Amino acid sequence: MPVIDIHTHMGVNPLPVPSHENLATPEQLIAIMDRCGVDKMCILPLSSPEALPDIQSNPEIHAACDRWPDRFIKFCCVDPRVQDNSTTHNFLPTLQYYKERGCKGMGEFVANLWWDDPRVQRLLEDCQTVGLPVTFHIAVKEFGMYGLIGEPGLKGLERALKKFPKLQFLGHSQAFWSEVGPVSEAERGGYPPGKVLPGGALPRLFRECPNLWGDMSGGSGCNSVSRDPEWGYRFMEEFQDRLCFGLDICAPSNKTPLVDFMRDALASGHISYDIHEKIMSGNAAKVLGL
Ligand SMILES: [Zn+2]
Repeated sequence: MPVIDIHTHMGVNPLPVPSHENLATPEQLIAIMDRCGVDKMCILPLSSPEALPDIQSNPEIHAACDRWPDRFIKFCCVDPRVQDNSTTHNFLPTLQYYKERGCKGMGEFVANLWWDDPRVQRLLEDCQTVGLPVTFHIAVKEFGMYGLIGEPGLKGLERALKKFPKLQFLGHSQAFWSEVGPVSEAERGGYPPGKVLPGGALPRLFRECPNLWGDMSGGSGCNSVSRDPEWGYRFMEEFQDRLCFGLDICAPSNKTPLVDFMRDALASGHISYDIHEKIMSGNAAKVLGL
């Protein structure tokens, strides 16, 4: 089965800030895939103003993806404020348009708005209707960062998971993965180290909400399973049908520690071949309908 990265970004045109390392180009992403043994990457446009010095358009990213259809899987990114900043906006025609053109998910959802904001709720409801899974980034506060504003204990997310039970939610970011165990406010937006104690919000939500999936991309996803490996192996065993491998490549120099962690976990016998295959491939195929 093909190894699938559930979450990565692509740069097509240089950003207008010369000091930033540019997002990886399609050719650089293919080189990273070949180095890491990844067959396909999901490409998430960044179309909200919070993410980059300039917004990416869906068409520019999709046109680049379409040049390598066997390597890139397209997502569309729709900002909840788009067009008229309305609490009653109808997103269905836009979402349907992108779905018909091959998009498998909506994201990365990085607008710095509250989960209960009516514009966010409208977009989630329409994604549920169209059948597009949503990949979201959670922030710990309003202002000064990107991502949906998460309360401690992932309470806003929990309300959304229960309000839209047919929508598949792919969770990601430090404020999401730090909740694998009890976490202090100071560490909630970071990479808490060491032992994972019982009582975290995230395992409870995975048990209660079958529409929650774990996008393991980025340093936060890798940290959640590697900070306390024995706990991480048990976590991957319990939620083997809901976790998806990912890299969240932005710049070409980004590290890929999850590749090594997953390979070592399999080689050392800490996770089974079946669990490894589900996390590296099967779960992504299932949630995205590939
Ligand atoms: Zn991302």
